[in-house]
Amino acid sequence: MNAIIGQVNGQESPRYAGLTTFARLPRREDVENFDIAVVGIPFDAGVTFRPGARFGPSAIREASRLLRPYNPALENRPFADAQVVDAGDIDCNPFDIPTALGEIEAGLAHLMSNGAPVVSLGGDHTIALPALRAAHREHGPLALIHFDAHLDTWDTYFDMPYTHGSPFRRASEEGLIRKDRSVHVGVRGSLYDQKDLIDDKELGFTIVSCHDFDRIGVDGILEHVLERVGDAPLYVSVDIDVLDPAHAPGTGTPEAGGMTSRELLAVVRGLRHNKIVAADIVEVAPAYDHAAITSVAAANLAYEFISIMAEQKTTLAPTSD
Ligand code: MN
Ligand code: MN
Repeated sequence: MNAIIGQVNGQESPRYAGLTTFARLPRREDVENFDIAVVGIPFDAGVTFRPGARFGPSAIREASRLLRPYNPALENRPFADAQVVDAGDIDCNPFDIPTALGEIEAGLAHLMSNGAPVVSLGGDHTIALPALRAAHREHGPLALIHFDAHLDTWDTYFDMPYTHGSPFRRASEEGLIRKDRSVHVGVRGSLYDQKDLIDDKELGFTIVSCHDFDRIGVDGILEHVLERVGDAPLYVSVDIDVLDPAHAPGTGTPEAGGMTSRELLAVVRGLRHNKIVAADIVEVAPAYDHAAITSVAAANLAYEFISIMAEQKTTLAPTSD
């Protein structure tokens, strides 16, 4: 294995200079092998309210320029311990959703071959379905932690089955996720009907809702989540609207009363001993953002996932493609 190539040196080239890759890491094509890939999925044809998440990957990359090599919370150096790359964006059809889903699945399956963990930057939440399909191909049925204000287990919108409000119903129907190992965290806001919750339970989910947080705190959330997912291969999907609009204004379907970015980062760090095979961060819509609040939160979140994945590198198969 060749020497690991890390970030562009911020002491030699100012952090705001040069072409943008995630955390100023090398591109996929700049290295022979990689251990962890970050990839953009600029797709937002599945939204039901505000559009604009197709611009999420480029905004998150810009916000990631400030990420530094040492993670003091986890006490590790993710970009030195593992070869992390920016795999660019997956080109996907902006007009035909089923075509786009196939393109996203193929692109991710290619990156995930040989077991490499991947962090996907959305894009709207529709992309979680092809991402789960790709991860399932490689790892079999997955435990799922889904951070979101919304259930995303609705059936159809305007009779259409593939939208950002339905990926986890489809994933459950297709057997991609384990019905005994899946959980929503951060759910809040209004629903169409109480039946939404009944359907959701039948699809295999438990819920840690936002109004549970005040009572149980970060430790209580983790207690439930860690017991629920066990040691199964884990997919973590983060809709940035799980954060309160004060912490993530730049998103498509904001709901009041959400998590703080500090709480979310703490819960994610609590997953460091789980086998995270893939993660996504979706629904960052920069047009509604202010001072990059939302994309900074997303970039820092991606850093925590990469840090955990880098720690687990020794327990995963060596990777190349
Ligand atoms: Mn949501
Ligand atoms: Mn969502």
